[in-house]
Amino acid sequence: MAPADFAPRLLDWFDRHGRHHLPWQEPRTPYRVWLSEVMLQQTQVATAIPYFERFVARFPTVEALAEAPLDDVLHLWSGLGYYARARNLKRAAERIVAEHGGHFPATVDGWQALPGVGRSTAAAILAQAHGERHAILDGNVKRVLARWFAIDGWPGSAAVVATLWSASESVTPAVRVADYTQAIMDLGATLCSRSRPRCADCPVASGCRALAQGRVAELPGRRAAVGQRRRRRVVWLVARGPDGYLLTQRPAAGLWGGLWGFPEFDDVSAAEAALDSAFTGAGPTHRWAPIAHAFSHFDLDIEPLVATVSGRAAAVQEPAVVWYNPSVPLTLGLAAPVAGLLRALATNPPSAP
Ligand code: SF4
Repeated sequence: MAPADFAPRLLDWFDRHGRHHLPWQEPRTPYRVWLSEVMLQQTQVATAIPYFERFVARFPTVEALAEAPLDDVLHLWSGLGYYARARNLKRAAERIVAEHGGHFPATVDGWQALPGVGRSTAAAILAQAHGERHAILDGNVKRVLARWFAIDGWPGSAAVVATLWSASESVTPAVRVADYTQAIMDLGATLCSRSRPRCADCPVASGCRALAQGRVAELPGRRAAVGQRRRRRVVWLVARGPDGYLLTQRPAAGLWGGLWGFPEFDDVSAAEAALDSAFTGAGPTHRWAPIAHAFSHFDLDIEPLVATVSGRAAAVQEPAVVWYNPSVPLTLGLAAPVAGLLRALATNPPSAP
C-alpha cells in the first residue's frame, strides 16, 4: 500500500465507522471548530461534548465570548483541566473582536498569531471550517504517522516533529480535507490508540511499517525518563458559619491560573500560624487525609487543614477573596480538587469553634 492510498482508505473507513454528527460539525463554522479544536487538545471527544454544548449555549458568538467575564468562562471550563486553554480562548476572542471586527483569520499564520493556537490547530480549523488543504499534526496524528511510517525518536523533539510534518504533508489529500482531518484524528483516538491499538481493524494496516516490523508497541518513541517529581501543599478549609468557606483567586499565570481555590501553604505549621494571625476566634484545626492529584509533569499531594472561625478576618488582605457557600454556589472557576473538597465539606462540615 502506497502513501497515495492512505487517505482514500481512511476516508472509506471514516464513511462507514467515523464519528459523524459531532456537535461542532453541525454547522462547521470557524467559531465552533475553533472551540472544539481547543477543547480537544487535551480532552477526549466524549468528555468534551457536554462542555462544548454548554459553552456555545452560553457564548454563541465570538462577541459573546469576548464580552463575558473571565470567571464565567472559567466556570464553564471547570473540570476540563488545562485552564490556560480557556484563558487563551477568551483573550483570542477579545482580539478577534477588537482588532479584526469579529472576523476570523483566513490563514494559518493569522490563526497562529492568536493566543493558544498552534500550527496544527490553525491548520485543522481551516481544513474543517473551509475545506482548505492543510496538513495537521496533533498528538493522535503524531502517533498514527510515527507508526505508519516507522519514524523513530521522541515526537517532542524538533527533528522528529519536522519529519512527522513532512509525513503528514505527504498523505494529506486534495479533496475532502475536512473529513480527512476528522478521520485521521479519529483513527488515532480509536483504533491506533496508545496502549491497545486494534491493528486487525485498521483500514491502513496493509501499509503500516510498524506493524510489518513488529514495532507497534515501541512507536512513537518515548522521552528519556526523568523522575516524576512530587510536590506538597497544605490548604486551609476555613469555615465561617453561613458565609461558607474562604476562597482566594489564584494568580493569572501558573497552575490553575485565574481559578479560585483554598489558601495554600508550604506546611502545616505555616498554615496554623497564618490562621492564628489572620482570624480572631479560630477553633482547633483538623487534618484530613491527603489527596493526590496528578499533573503531566509532577504529582501534587494536597493536605487539607479544616478549621472554623467566628470572628472577622484580622489580616486576610488578599485582593481577591470570597466566602463560598456551597448551597448557594457562585459562578466561579474551580479546579477539580477544590470542587471535590467543597462537596466533601457539604457532607462532612466542620463543627463550630
Ligand atoms: S496498523 Fe496498527 S499501528 Fe499501524 S496505523 Fe493501524 S492501528 Fe496504528
